[in-house]
Amino acid sequence: MKVTPMLRQYLDAKQAYPDAILFFRMGDFYEMFFEDAVVVSKELGLTLTARNKNNGEDEIPMAGVPHHASRGYVSRLIEKGFTVAICEQLEDPALTKGIVKRDVVRVVTPGVVLDTDTLDAKAPNFVAAVVHGAQEQFGIGYADVSTGEFHVTEVATALDVISELRRFEPREVLVNERAAAALDRAQVRLDGVFFRTRNDAYFDRKALSGEVARGVRLAADIVNDGYFLDEVALTGVFAELGAFEFGNVGVVTEAATGVLRYFVETQRGIPAHLQVARPYHATSFLIVDEATKANLELTQTLMGGRRAGSLLSVIDKTVTAMGGRMLRQWLNYPLVDVAAIDRRLSAVGELVGRPALREDVRGTLDGVYDLERLCGRIASGTANARDLRGLLKTLGAVDPLRTALEECETARLQEIAQRLDPFTDLRELIERAIVDEPPTSVTDGGLFRRGYDDELDEILELAENGKDWLLGYERDERRRTDISSLKVRHNKVFGYYIEVTRANLEAVPDDYVRKQTLANAERYFTPELKEMEDKILGASDRRVVLEHRMFEELRQLVGAQITGLLATARLLAELDVVAAFAELAVRHEYTCPVVDDSDVLQIEEGRHPVVERTITDERFVPNDVMLDGTEHRLQIITGPNMAGKSTVIRQVALICLMAQMGCFVPARSARIGVLDKIFSRVGASDNLARGQSTFMVEMTETAHILSNATSRSLVILDEIGRGTSTFDGLSIAWAVAEFLHDEVRAKTMFATHYHELTELDRTLEGVENLSIAVKEWNDDIIFLRKLVHGEANRSYGVQVARLAGLPETVLARAREVLGNLEAGKFDERGLPVPGRGREPQATKTYNPDQLSLFAGGGRLSDAEVRAIEALRAVDANALTPLDALNLLAKISAELA
Ligand code: ADP
Ligand code: MG
Repeated sequence: MKVTPMLRQYLDAKQAYPDAILFFRMGDFYEMFFEDAVVVSKELGLTLTARNKNNGEDEIPMAGVPHHASRGYVSRLIEKGFTVAICEQLEDPALTKGIVKRDVVRVVTPGVVLDTDTLDAKAPNFVAAVVHGAQEQFGIGYADVSTGEFHVTEVATALDVISELRRFEPREVLVNERAAAALDRAQVRLDGVFFRTRNDAYFDRKALSGEVARGVRLAADIVNDGYFLDEVALTGVFAELGAFEFGNVGVVTEAATGVLRYFVETQRGIPAHLQVARPYHATSFLIVDEATKANLELTQTLMGGRRAGSLLSVIDKTVTAMGGRMLRQWLNYPLVDVAAIDRRLSAVGELVGRPALREDVRGTLDGVYDLERLCGRIASGTANARDLRGLLKTLGAVDPLRTALEECETARLQEIAQRLDPFTDLRELIERAIVDEPPTSVTDGGLFRRGYDDELDEILELAENGKDWLLGYERDERRRTDISSLKVRHNKVFGYYIEVTRANLEAVPDDYVRKQTLANAERYFTPELKEMEDKILGASDRRVVLEHRMFEELRQLVGAQITGLLATARLLAELDVVAAFAELAVRHEYTCPVVDDSDVLQIEEGRHPVVERTITDERFVPNDVMLDGTEHRLQIITGPNMAGKSTVIRQVALICLMAQMGCFVPARSARIGVLDKIFSRVGASDNLARGQSTFMVEMTETAHILSNATSRSLVILDEIGRGTSTFDGLSIAWAVAEFLHDEVRAKTMFATHYHELTELDRTLEGVENLSIAVKEWNDDIIFLRKLVHGEANRSYGVQVARLAGLPETVLARAREVLGNLEAGKFDERGLPVPGRGREPQATKTYNPDQLSLFAGGGRLSDAEVRAIEALRAVDANALTPLDALNLLAKISAELA
């Protein structure tokens, strides 16, 4: 293949970014060649053509998109997980001899999107890095380039990494090889997240400094301002890391480095508005691991992964994009500090109690723009004059809000009112500078008001005077030539001219010079007109250049205040969330929970926030729940299929989580001793929607709970042990329940169809049997949806099957088999047990003792019961060795 200079340029650029699709600028198009062309034409449905077609040389596959429409194409590729390297012409082809210089100016990737129009306004867009070293810990860093947020933390295991990723929901994650391997082993799929592996050197802090010192920045003229690559700024980003108590600050630093390095790689610099990396511990928040988050459908549904139907979708009443993002963050990071929770709750309470104020606040916030992302655009040098007007309007909301909040009594609202900065000077400046409705382009002039800048005023005056002069000139020439239809006009192509219709050509004076001939008119110029034209055009050229420069200066002035602006943005966001919680509470009758340090979890007339809004054919039945650290710590909930077991246990978890977010809850009253973690697991066969219905996954997750839950945790188990044979599953469920009760002592709600588990309450002090009441009516059952004390007395599977329309003969046989099973004549698959008869038997009342796990399936003998009681009565500390021996001999004798 013959390599032309242009092709050489292409190949060099491609070599520097081998993983990216290269958009190679050629005039008004971005062209793609070779493999990129083939891939992109398929993904985007473009026509695949070829370069060198028919000229005898090797054909090169080629596809192109017009440069003005490239945004849409780029974002579609990003959506599919590609990265796109934008290779621009760095010189004006008209002024260049030979081939123009080209280079990659930035790489667009899913996690680093500057074009905020293509982003979901109410979700963050994080790029993250995860580093695992020789020691145990994992370091995590993540930043959102659209807002400048930057966070770092450390966690212990691969599952913790996944939980953390699931909480802040990055679009893209850089991992070192060790971390990649560990995450692979954990086998959890994170949909819509793109992982990229890099070698250890990539995360090296010193190497990054070296890179910065060498300066990978392009020629200054083509890189946006708003990026830095200097050591001082870099050190600033790491400033808070050293003093924070991390177990292994090394991996955390490396993770933060990975994020910065990715910016250098893709943006050829680090965004100047990037905030200091903020360290936190995951345990400073209520821990909700990834499986729990999925099962509780906090931000998306299990089935289909949609937002509609999630908790987020029913509680989000925010009116601003930044409020929406903050609410999502509060949902993903509920608090554990009672005082902090109270501060939020009382602010919400005050706005619940003051409808006029709430309306006022929400109404005012409704008109503001996304200040955080506006700041991102200002700082990165992509904001236009309309963005500055947007900033002005947004800051204009601050004064009214402060006035409205003036009389507030709760601490947090007062604080917000005080800290909100109206940026009076900045507003005055922008108001004085920018016209009411500026154009989107910042390079064509028309941005600034008269009276803002003397030089600009002079130029504008010249243009104005020019207009007057032209009118006068037209008047004079009409008089001189006696042609009343004579016109002095201008257009873009020909400039200024005098137009005379064909009928009047005879009256044209000699000093007119012909410029252009039309069908029924001639156009002329004169030396006088030409001179004026130069003046006016010169002025307008100067004006465009001047205004562009002035705008960049103004943008920088605003950019210098970014930190303060972002702080105000976050206060506005918080106010929005608090007011939204109040609105939610009023609209759906939520109440203020009491969150304290007690051991109590008591809910009166609690409802499921999502189910109560989605059921249509019946009324939602509220339920009371009471758990504590002693006698009510493990509840076994039985009841037929479809009774409402899953709903009631989930609603308890959701109510606790909402309370710790600082949100009111769907209940008549709630008292919640603050929780450290919430776990929710769904048995494998109930969990098909997650696409991983293996028993292995169910057990891995259960193991995770048993080793991580504490006595301050809430554990919600739904049909655990279902993914295997009955006896197997039952045994595991049994042992898990015992372990949770005896060792973990977490508050636990266990919904199960294994009635055998209800026997646990005979021996374990903290176990309680509950069931969801149903009423039998002939052979049908009616769901009452009420959680009541005591176990469900039989398995209603057959009735439910009947409701579902199973044929009568099948139902009759099912009843028969059930009866036999319960009499112990068949094994769990309904097959006859050898040595026992097969004569059909009338349906018997279910007797749990017959499938007891104790003593080989029978009841305990009297002697056994006495032996156990004797052992229970022993105080081992007060027993001498001789007493112990005697007691042992006595017990053995009795049991013999
Ligand atoms: P189970 O887990 O016992 O099989 P679910 O909790 O899945 O039952 O509930 C089945 C359906 O019953 C739910 O989808 C909902 O429509 C309805 N339901 C559940 N609880 C209630 C309730 N408290 N009030 C009204 N309807 C309910
Ligand atoms: Mg269920």
